[in-house]
Amino acid sequence: MIIIMKPNATPSQVEEIIKKVKSFGLSAHLSQGVETTIIGAIGDTRDLPTDKFTSAKGVKSVQKITQPYKLASRQFHPENSVFPLDGFTVGGEELAIIAGPCSVESRDQIIETAIAVKEAGANALRGGVFKPRTSPYSFQGLGEEGLEYLAEAREKTGLPIVTEIMSELQLKVMTKFVDVFQVGARNMQNYDLLRALGKTQKPILLKRGLSATITELLMAAEYILSGGNKQVMLCERGIRTFETATRNTTDINAIPVLKNLTHLPVILDPSHSTGHVDYVAAISRAAIAAGADGLIIEVHPNPHEALSDGHQSLKPDKFVALIKQVKQIAEVMDRRLAVLKPASVH
Ligand code: PEP
Ligand code: MN
Repeated sequence: MIIIMKPNATPSQVEEIIKKVKSFGLSAHLSQGVETTIIGAIGDTRDLPTDKFTSAKGVKSVQKITQPYKLASRQFHPENSVFPLDGFTVGGEELAIIAGPCSVESRDQIIETAIAVKEAGANALRGGVFKPRTSPYSFQGLGEEGLEYLAEAREKTGLPIVTEIMSELQLKVMTKFVDVFQVGARNMQNYDLLRALGKTQKPILLKRGLSATITELLMAAEYILSGGNKQVMLCERGIRTFETATRNTTDINAIPVLKNLTHLPVILDPSHSTGHVDYVAAISRAAIAAGADGLIIEVHPNPHEALSDGHQSLKPDKFVALIKQVKQIAEVMDRRLAVLKPASVH
């Protein structure tokens, strides 16, 4: 249930409502926007006497939340969630452009890629070191050694690091190297992992499961939010359909639908959603035009030799061309590419 306060409600009236919510054994979530103050009652609200709230001083209206997710819901938090990420903000006017190889393969490969994507206009570096491969015989990632290389790439370019965590057990070793924890499609419903990430202070890039509905994605986000971590980005990365011409089907609908249902930033991954270099630019343009808050794109200096996902990885020159187009579409959408703070230019 949410309690919407009148625009002129006083802080003590807001405080009274919070106290009242708590007196029913529920927790209260305060969302203070520029225009509206909303108090969300979280817990089992089935027997809550709504009239006790509608009649209270300063209250404009009381609404039941029909969706199963609460903290992720736009009803709870009408304004977009905007949070800082090392020199730029995610979810606001600036677009997050996360780029880099599928996997960190060597020191030289990640540093070369980091410099190239930074020059092209990316504002964060991706690269997996713990890889969720379909086959146990495929390259599984460099593990801790890869984290060291990512740290060096960060040192050289100033780009924050986005990398996948597959298990709660990796939290300890990863924390000091990672700026954004990526939760992969295969782990979207690894609830122990989501709970553990909810207790961290770092932003999370939560990818949609291969066959997960939008509601299931939002419920997964709710696990992280309910642990206290409010910095969650959602990532559409294509879903399984009957179509086999592409690796997955980009659910472009998911972008406006998510923007409607939630205040969390929405990022699109055109590399995994199409699975082919030839389609990455078109779907990137479509995503920004559809209202996405950013992109995560696989870029490799030599895709033919990549140890994973080479067929969908762009060469740096193609990435440069893509960014130019995205920049123009961003303008139409009143968005812009972030200009990195000079301190992070090395
Ligand atoms: C990846 O980003 O390289 C990856 C494995 O993505 P997903 O979890 O979306 O398959
Ligand atoms: Mn990949």
